[in-house]
Formats: sequence, C-alpha cells, structure tokens
Amino acid sequence: MTFDADSAVVDAVVPSPNFGERRGAVRPDMLILHYTGMREGDSPLARLTDPDSGVSAHYLVEEDGRILQMVPEGARAWHAGESYWQGERDINSRSIGIEIVNPGHRHGLRPYPPRQIQRLIELCRDCVERWAIAPQNVLAHSDVAPSRKEDPGELFPWDQLSRAGIGTVVDAPPMGGGRFLTIGDRGAPVTAWQTMLAGYGFELEATGTFDETTRLATIALQRHHRQTRVDGVADASTVGVLHRLLSLRAATR
Ligand SMILES: [Zn+2]
Repeated sequence: MTFDADSAVVDAVVPSPNFGERRGAVRPDMLILHYTGMREGDSPLARLTDPDSGVSAHYLVEEDGRILQMVPEGARAWHAGESYWQGERDINSRSIGIEIVNPGHRHGLRPYPPRQIQRLIELCRDCVERWAIAPQNVLAHSDVAPSRKEDPGELFPWDQLSRAGIGTVVDAPPMGGGRFLTIGDRGAPVTAWQTMLAGYGFELEATGTFDETTRLATIALQRHHRQTRVDGVADASTVGVLHRLLSLRAATR
C-alpha cells in the first residue's frame, strides 16, 4: 500500500510492510541514524521492504544521494531493536529512523560520499524542523544500543551535520597524558564516570567497576564525539567531551 512522501526531499516512495503504530508517543522526538552494513551488491532496499526480514526504517539514503521513503513518519518503523536512551526503551515509537547506505564495519566501513551526506543533511533538516526534534536527540544507533551496534560508525561526519544545524557536537579536548580509566578499574572515579554516562543517556549502573558495559558506552561516546581514537578508555579528552556535552545540555534546558 503506497502513501504520499512526508518530505519534499524524497525522490521515491517504496512502501515497506514492516511497521506498526507508535505506542504512547504521539509524535517522534528523536532521530536515529544508521548504516545499512550490507555486502556490496546486496540490496538494502530489498531487505528493508521484505516482509520476512522484520526490519525497516522511514528513510534510506543511497550512496548517490537518492532518498527513498519506506514507512510513513506517523507510523513506527522497525530499526532500533532492543535499545535504551534516558529511561526510554521503545526508541522505535519515539523516533524517525534513517538508514544510510555503507558496507559498515563488517563489510568495509568507508567514508560517506559528499553527495550522500549533502542529501542526508537536507532530509534531517526537514525532519528536525517539522517535528521540532532537539539537537541532543539526534543520535546514532550505537548510542541507543552500544552493546549490539556500531553504526553509523566513526567515519560518520557528525561535525558536518552539526555545522548544518543538526545534532550536537562538541570539540574534543586534545589527547595527551594524564589519568585514565579502563576496563577492570575500580573506585570513586569509575563511579563518577558511570554516573556521567548514565546521566547523558546510556543504560548503565554506577557500580564502581569499569566493566564491559561501561567500556561499550565509552566506545559509543567516542564513535560519536571523539572519533580520532575509539578504544573504550576514558582518557582525559573523552571525559572532557562528556563534561562539555552535559554542560551544553544543562545550558539549553
Ligand atoms: Zn542500525
């Protein structure tokens, strides 16, 4: 069953049967960005519209910049899976999902072509404006599912989107020596770091032990905000990034 595109930037509507009703939330207030992560030659569009795949997204942005809509924005697409952000688990009901074609970590993560990013920016801007989505709610799949997902990855140009008014990026303090926290560490500084990560949005308990969950949340933070080194170690630069993000959020509240 076809429908009218929600955005003027859409090139074609290719309906997917994979959607349902948004639960609870009347309108989307999050934008979740993904890569398709498929082998060259396999069709992301075929998968996202296949009734047997059980997955979909509202939009697909091809490498040449073509934008396809598969699910109406009013409906709940199936892109986030098991996920969590700031106490919310049903991210699909709250969000618009955009799949961006890239082979991803598994099949060769590569830079996103400028044309693809340019069109993605047009699409995001349109969604963010029409739904009044806050910059801090423009997130990576890896932000809301850090233990399962790596997309859209550390080559994704969040800074470019941010300059175009989409999402939030802060300047990372320079990397250098100093103290750092890593897997296996225990104590008050670890508790403080976990409290910051949880306060930002990740699902995490402040146990005082730098465990695998803490490491994966740290990696997700780096993939989005400190892309030059994604190693799951809370060095001074990484801690500084999160401080800046939290104060920025406090200032915009
Ligand atoms: Zn994803």
